[in-house]
Amino acid sequence: MPELPEVETVKNVLLPIVKNRTVIKCEVLRKTIVNNLSDEFISFILNETFLDISRRGKFLIFHLTNDKVLISHLRMEGKYYELDESEENTKYSRAVFHLDNGHKLCYDDSRSFGRMIMSNETNYLKEKEIAKLGPEPFEIDDVSTLVKQCKKISLPIKTALLNQTLMTGLGNIYVDEVLFASKIHPLTPTKFINKNEWENIVKEAKRILSMAIKDGGSTIKSYHPGKDISGEFQTKLLAYGRNGQMCVSRHAFMRFIKVNGRGTTYCPKCQIKRGAPIKIAIVGKIASGKSTALDVFKKANYLALSSDEIVHNLYAKKDIQELVNKRLKIKSDLPFVDALREHLKSHQKDLDRLEKIIHPLVKKEIEKEFKNSKSPLLVCEVPLLFKAHMQNMFDVIIGVDISNSEQLKRLQIRDKEKSAFLKRINDDNNYFEEHRLDLDYIVTNNNDVKSLSKEVKKIINIILDRLY
Ligand SMILES: [Zn+2]
Repeated sequence: MPELPEVETVKNVLLPIVKNRTVIKCEVLRKTIVNNLSDEFISFILNETFLDISRRGKFLIFHLTNDKVLISHLRMEGKYYELDESEENTKYSRAVFHLDNGHKLCYDDSRSFGRMIMSNETNYLKEKEIAKLGPEPFEIDDVSTLVKQCKKISLPIKTALLNQTLMTGLGNIYVDEVLFASKIHPLTPTKFINKNEWENIVKEAKRILSMAIKDGGSTIKSYHPGKDISGEFQTKLLAYGRNGQMCVSRHAFMRFIKVNGRGTTYCPKCQIKRGAPIKIAIVGKIASGKSTALDVFKKANYLALSSDEIVHNLYAKKDIQELVNKRLKIKSDLPFVDALREHLKSHQKDLDRLEKIIHPLVKKEIEKEFKNSKSPLLVCEVPLLFKAHMQNMFDVIIGVDISNSEQLKRLQIRDKEKSAFLKRINDDNNYFEEHRLDLDYIVTNNNDVKSLSKEVKKIINIILDRLY
């Protein structure tokens, strides 16, 4: 979807093509583009001359003779192509403007979501689509109005910026870029954004949008500013589309979340989440003391889930047992869990298949519990967080570390027979080496509950500071 820099580029490409050209014939090939007013539209534009083009947010404003104004919103796929009269219209031409110099301007829109609105110089800024737009960042010198306006908005800052009413000009791509540059988490409730942060948002929006305009916008999927012209800014995007890649500060991997349905990429270390709820995962090797860490949250009355317990509960369900037995072809008279353990001893490869069944169900359960809870901190112990690709569900990841010798000692105390089996599961689970950059905090467990609790409490206090 073209955003402000792309529309600005389209405007700059189009202006020399149409300036002082008169429309000698017009065809509407898809009525919905002009709100089903084809006849009115044709007589509106016929014999008028283009004088200038301006832009308001993502709207192109064509200024015509006789004080007429044509507002064009490209929406998802709208594009303008200049062609020779001798050439065929483009494939998805929805309206064609024949000009007085032997050229024609095709409005091409494969999805036909774009709209053209007829207006005039006196009224076009009052048309409802335009009137609701806030100022562009370039027009904001003083953020005090923004600070005042946002005091009652609980929506995430990303959603508030996409709404275009506080400020216009940032769509999905550039909102991610601006929030990344301003070091603000996209889910931060808008009312928590202070004056200093608004100043940063406006400053970064001005800088990033100007840079993008200079580069001709970003060429992403559908957008093209004109025939044979590509934007270059996509190569400079630092957040958008970089899910799973290293943050440019090289301290964490970029994460992908949905914010009110919109795909959003951010850095969990640069953009710390503020405002409840904060979702916390506890990870660590088996027998490292994750449950002890979880208990600290539980005792403080925060929602504390154990994914092992969730798995345990799932395994108790008849339909889950049937599903697993069927998929893994297990036939045994032993109780389900014992039969499963026996089966996995001789069919090591089935562990992957089992996890493919169970992980999505665990994820769903956690999401459900989180949604139904009013606790400001939502905590879950998830030993297989990375293997199950669940890290994006959490704002904070705490790793509980333990030395190898201490770990083995604990495993042996737990269950002599089971320990080998458990160790095997653990062997491919070396997140402390592979995922160190994903961990926000690491606590070390030297088999001393008191000092582990103390470390966890310290982390809780740091996280609580972010709530307000
Ligand atoms: Zn970062």
